[in-house]
Amino acid sequence: MSRPKLLIATGNAGKLSEYRAILAGLPVDLVAPADLALDIDVAEDGGTFAANAKLKARAYADATGLPVLADDSGLEVDALGGLPGVHSARYAGEGATDADRRRKLLVAMKDVPDVQRAARFRCVIALYWGGRFHIVEGSVEGAIGRQERGSGGFGYDSLFEVPGTGKTMAELTAEEKNAISHRGRAARAAREVLVRLLQQPSSHPRPAPTGS
Ligand code: IMP
Repeated sequence: MSRPKLLIATGNAGKLSEYRAILAGLPVDLVAPADLALDIDVAEDGGTFAANAKLKARAYADATGLPVLADDSGLEVDALGGLPGVHSARYAGEGATDADRRRKLLVAMKDVPDVQRAARFRCVIALYWGGRFHIVEGSVEGAIGRQERGSGGFGYDSLFEVPGTGKTMAELTAEEKNAISHRGRAARAAREVLVRLLQQPSSHPRPAPTGS
């Protein structure tokens, strides 16, 4: 019997290699959108990370007939009532850069005292498998610094202080970040779900319509 395929619904090369590393060794063939010349733009207007991850997973599944792993992630800052949250990628408007978003966050947090700067990164993964959604989540707690530090990572990493390390996320190596990050934790939880699903033949997805 041919191995099931799993489409990793991201065009981000960094995320893709992280998922490939964490899901390595499972009896499933991981496929990227680029492998199928797929270019889908999903409107992420679901209101929660889970809703957006499900929207993405469903769109890719509808387009391909394959089982799909899709995620949505972002930064929640307590002093800002959970913002930027699901708006993390567009916090400073369309066309803005990561640097613009960090600047906006620093301004918004200017008068917030040290003890009230708690924040967390969250990542929700939706696995669409055998016609059902399986949702897992990972998060990492930290605090928003008063200035940028470090050059690794991306997004808000250089403002996100990781408790007990004296470092921001951008000062960790990629391996150190993956070990504690929201996405690493969610991906390892997704791996556990996949292990279970792959052990239940009845839950195996039907082959893609192309039969390839
Ligand atoms: P998405 O899940 O790729 O749509 O990410 C949404 C946004 O959240 C990104 O554009 C970043 O601004 C932010 N974000 C998500 N994960 C991280 C991370 O690991 N480090 C820094 N920023 C992140």
